[in-house]
Amino acid sequence: MVEEKRYDVAIIGGGIVGMATAMAISSTSHPSLVVLEAENDLAHHQTGHNSGVIHSGIYYKPGSLKAKNCVQGREAMYKFCQENDIPHDNCGKVIVATSEGELPTLEMLEKRGNANGLEGVKRLTAEEIKEFEPHAAGIAGLRVPQTGIVDYTAVTNKYGDYVKAAGGEVRTNSRVTSFQKVGDEFVLETASGTVRCRNLINCGGLQSDRIAKMCGVEPGLQILPFRGEYYEIVPERHDLVKNLIYPVPDPRFPFLGVHFTRMIHGGVEAGPNAVLAMKREGYSQWAFSARDSLEFGGYIGFWRMGLKYWPTAVGEVYRSFVKASFVKALQRLVPELKLEDVKRSGSGVRAQALEPSGFLVDDFRIVEAPHMIHVLNAPSPAATASISIGRSICDMAVKSFNLKSYQPA
Ligand SMILES: Cc1cc2nc3c(=O)[nH]c(=O)nc-3n(C[C@H](O)[C@H](O)[C@H](O)COP(=O)(O)OP(=O)(O)OC[C@H]3O[C@@H](n4cnc5c(N)ncnc54)[C@H](O)[C@@H]3O)c2cc1C
Repeated sequence: MVEEKRYDVAIIGGGIVGMATAMAISSTSHPSLVVLEAENDLAHHQTGHNSGVIHSGIYYKPGSLKAKNCVQGREAMYKFCQENDIPHDNCGKVIVATSEGELPTLEMLEKRGNANGLEGVKRLTAEEIKEFEPHAAGIAGLRVPQTGIVDYTAVTNKYGDYVKAAGGEVRTNSRVTSFQKVGDEFVLETASGTVRCRNLINCGGLQSDRIAKMCGVEPGLQILPFRGEYYEIVPERHDLVKNLIYPVPDPRFPFLGVHFTRMIHGGVEAGPNAVLAMKREGYSQWAFSARDSLEFGGYIGFWRMGLKYWPTAVGEVYRSFVKASFVKALQRLVPELKLEDVKRSGSGVRAQALEPSGFLVDDFRIVEAPHMIHVLNAPSPAATASISIGRSICDMAVKSFNLKSYQPA
């Protein structure tokens, strides 16, 4: 057991958001800082199970936290990867419209791209799509040069190296199980011993709402887990996809829509879908937790959302179990793809915040309480945006935790 020590700042969660926040705070103000991660390695959940895409910022409403942090974070991510020799590729992507009905959304995306400061976004004709992706078929498209691919686990571990180099501690196998306020300090019981701290930052991802409640903060939302399942293209058919091919998103469900992604370490993934998971960290189709299922089953927001969107949800479950249906969605983008060209691959679980009204929270949500900051919604593109999110949380922490601003000698 690790002996008790009082820290200026404790960060719960060693995913990419927690580690980016730790990196920003430890390099800015050099407090005594500890990151407490439940699992035996960093990036174990959402961060280590995502598509590995550096998003451009084209999708997000101008002025939103997502738009601002994605655009700034994307540039910072490329710079970080270059400076730290992290494999990445600014390969660009194409968004492909396959029906007349998608054209207004394609146009809206082009406008958003311009409003969000993306340079060089180009409208493509059906023939021009083939110049970038010879096997993709559509009636029109957009070429987005800013998009790229990277290994977010490697990025997170590198953030960890910076935290340690600046004097911070990173403790794995340290799930925080209880919270108490004693005088002017917080006492956290963890799987590796007691931790005392003056200030706390919750970056708990799929557990962030529960951690907030444990700390006496009513989050006003509940995390709903959505599993995203992937297929991979068999090596003999990798030629079907050069880089990244995306559909035009449904504006009501921007996180739906399977796509093709070349991976930074080789191979091409197809997916992910979005199926309600019966367990928060449930990576298989049969994963089940009575606690997790009863919790969302008893939440009014879940039923309100279900009433509105059940046909979409049923379609996603069908596609999860029936490979032909998944492949049909992919064939809209690459018609030559055959059933035998793909095989099941891994999955990830998204932490999606849901309000009691049934509203799926779209933007990032970060809530402050005395001596605490809770990151309650950090869905995609939070990995892309992590450096920018970390800096914003650091600014909040410097002010509200009264941390010293670092003055270089
Ligand atoms: C399928 C999928 C595809 C995605 N694709 C992309 C993409 O291509 N590009 C992109 O930018 N974003 C993508 N995202 C989103 C991105 O991965 C997430 O937004 C990001 O990883 C969130 O990081 P996080 O640190 O908040 O959460 P996490 O990575 O989930 O980290 C939270 C951490 O908190 C820890 N924790 C929880 N409870 C406790 C506790 N009590 N005590 C201690 N530790 C605790 C967990 O173990 C975990 O390590 C995708 C997400 C998914 C699921």
